[in-house]
Amino acid sequence: MSATILDGRALSATIRGELRTEVERFREKQGYAPGLVIVRVGGDAASGVYTRAILRIAGEIGVQARVEELPALTSADELRALLLQLNEDQRTHGIIVQMPLPAHLSQKMVADTVTPAKDIDGISPGSAGNLFLGLPSFLPSTAAAVVEILDRHHITLAGKRVVILGRSNVVGKPLALMLLQRHATVSVCHSRTRDLTTLTRQADVLIAAVGRPRLVTAEMVRPGAVVIDVGINTLPGGGIVGDVDFEAVREVASAITPTPGGVGPLTNVMLLKQCVRAAWLASGHSEEPLGLSASQA
Ligand code: NAD
Repeated sequence: MSATILDGRALSATIRGELRTEVERFREKQGYAPGLVIVRVGGDAASGVYTRAILRIAGEIGVQARVEELPALTSADELRALLLQLNEDQRTHGIIVQMPLPAHLSQKMVADTVTPAKDIDGISPGSAGNLFLGLPSFLPSTAAAVVEILDRHHITLAGKRVVILGRSNVVGKPLALMLLQRHATVSVCHSRTRDLTTLTRQADVLIAAVGRPRLVTAEMVRPGAVVIDVGINTLPGGGIVGDVDFEAVREVASAITPTPGGVGPLTNVMLLKQCVRAAWLASGHSEEPLGLSASQA
């Protein structure tokens, strides 16, 4: 058997098209575009690449995005003041603060300061709490991207056994909660998990978010399982691979995401989808215009 390839690039193009239409509808109704502000402190090179990718998608779908570039020596008070100002700004619907921050600035301060109404990457304790309670919430975009791939390919989760490798706050943990809401039976494995293969071989859906090149081998996968690879690893000699040994595992799995071209292309799209949703909610639309409610119970 050779697995169906779950093509993240194609899905990303589809959703960008949907968002373009949605943003146009918003503009017609409100007279202005949804607004996004990306805050960068200190000009980290990797976050520059990430910022340009977000700006490109924002431009394509019609979201008004701008970057607030702050010098590396910006104080915590100055950063906090900017975030408070953006919280109040009526034309800013989503705020993202690029990581990593310079060492003297705390990620916790940022998460505590950005208002949950504009926290479109779901980093704040308020967003995490809402997700935990099954209330509508903004979701960490990578975890949201994984669920979007499963939903759009009609991969049912109710009653299925899902095994997640990785327990980070941005991927593994929120994903576990989102999949529980879809009635899956979820196991979360991590660096201290013993006998990983016994667990992974039980998975109907196996999700790898570890950051170790080709950690998941064909022997670790139950024949017919769906395999989602979140990992992005740069090899010493160049080239990018996921956490899954794609060529071997595709012969065992029923469906699999490639790397690159799987989860990655959807992450920023999900961020912008949540920005558009934030704009609708801020304009008084209490319904879930884009169907992003966290609660599926
Ligand atoms: P992280 O370093 O915060 O967490 C890694 C997790 O893997 C930890 O919970 C750790 O306990 C677990 N782990 C380590 N070794 C393990 C092992 N042998 N078996 C099982 N679990 C093990 O990483 P993260 O931020 O969650 O990212 C994970 C991967 O996903 C990275 O490769 C990252 O580049 C990638 N990523 C991709 C996107 C995207 O857009 N596609 C976004 C975020 C992260």
